[in-house]
Amino acid sequence: MHKIVLFVSLLVLTCSRVFAQTASANHASALTVIKAGTLIDGVGETQRHNQLIFVRGERIEKVVAASTAIPADAKVIDLSGATVLPGLIDAHTHIFLWGEDPAKGGYDANILRAGIALRAARATFACRRALEQGFTTLRDVETEGAGYGDVGIKQAIEEGTIPGPRLFVATRAISTTGGYNLEGYAPELRVPKGAQIVDGPVEARKAAREQLDRGADWIKVYMTHRSWVNKQGNLLSQPTLTVEELKVIVDEAHGWGKKVACHAYNGIGLQRALDGGCDSIEHGLEISDPQIAQMAKQGTWYCPTLAAYYHDWEPENTPAGKRDRKRAEVHGESVQKAVKAGIKIVYGTDMGGIEWSQPMAQEFPYLVQFGLTPMQAIRAATSSAAELLDEKGELGVVAAGALADLIGVKGDPLKDVKELGSVGFVMKGGSVFKNQLSN
Ligand SMILES: [Zn+2]
Repeated sequence: MHKIVLFVSLLVLTCSRVFAQTASANHASALTVIKAGTLIDGVGETQRHNQLIFVRGERIEKVVAASTAIPADAKVIDLSGATVLPGLIDAHTHIFLWGEDPAKGGYDANILRAGIALRAARATFACRRALEQGFTTLRDVETEGAGYGDVGIKQAIEEGTIPGPRLFVATRAISTTGGYNLEGYAPELRVPKGAQIVDGPVEARKAAREQLDRGADWIKVYMTHRSWVNKQGNLLSQPTLTVEELKVIVDEAHGWGKKVACHAYNGIGLQRALDGGCDSIEHGLEISDPQIAQMAKQGTWYCPTLAAYYHDWEPENTPAGKRDRKRAEVHGESVQKAVKAGIKIVYGTDMGGIEWSQPMAQEFPYLVQFGLTPMQAIRAATSSAAELLDEKGELGVVAAGALADLIGVKGDPLKDVKELGSVGFVMKGGSVFKNQLSN
């Protein structure tokens, strides 16, 4: 009896909650007008002043001069003392990764010590963190042993159960035997791996099909794994998949209308990534001049994730310490070359590898340090990243017809790009998530 009452009340609660979410999401006729003191629209070369952004339902209806009349029934949000931008896009995150601090057990503890419920709770936290910092879209490039958990978190966000950014997910990722963690355990033990391991084109294509079938928006492939500095002082990286193996993955993904992101540091593995037809190079620590030319010719995207390589260096005179310093040394030069060659650069942090308590805006100053203007760095996190995601005109832009993902900052990010670390206003799909800038 009690059980039945409980069940019925739960059912009523559940239904009213779902109904409330549907109702709030479907306010298609309600008008909100945002007064923007300064507007950086994500596409244009220059900022504009005193603009009104009309938001109806989940989309931007129009962007007009402040002299335009505001209808009496509109809700007004006054950001006239702030700079308004499109919601930011981080094109390289791991919501299921909880840092790699050796003192907390390093990468391995993510998989060996945390059950799936704990990992899902942490991913939920990560999504909220991203949204409150103004990142309204993430390309989340694999779950690090948490299977298809990213598909579930994405569903929870879409149905309104938890707050979070729009997610483009890669599910499990693909590497080869000897090409991913966990490793270093007794050879007799079968330890889980942080990615799906394949050997040969048949297994490679099957893995891509499985991941696409189970909800992958992107396929993530590891084209290099271990890296070290050799006797000559050069950075070397162990290649993983062959060109043949990568080609079938790219072929399969493209057939589904999806793209392939390739983790590749340098050398042979990076070359195979380009020859295999990768859509985006992740990290790309050391890119040679011919490789830059090949990327330009093929239209390959570059997501450098600089900040991640300036964190937590090992002690200076150890092999790992030398490797960490060499990586940072060559990385900046690669970004400078890419900027000169007009390679399409997108914003990515590698959050998750970096703890989610850390600021996501930390990549902006590195991009500016290595040759992007503040406006180019903003476009890398808005309209360029939207184009990478095949969401041009929908995301990463403040213009009529786009989804109303908007953020506000008090200062001028064109003067100091670090201002993007203090996002005080966040709207996603026409709903205000955070507003500390106006009443
Ligand atoms: Zn990563």
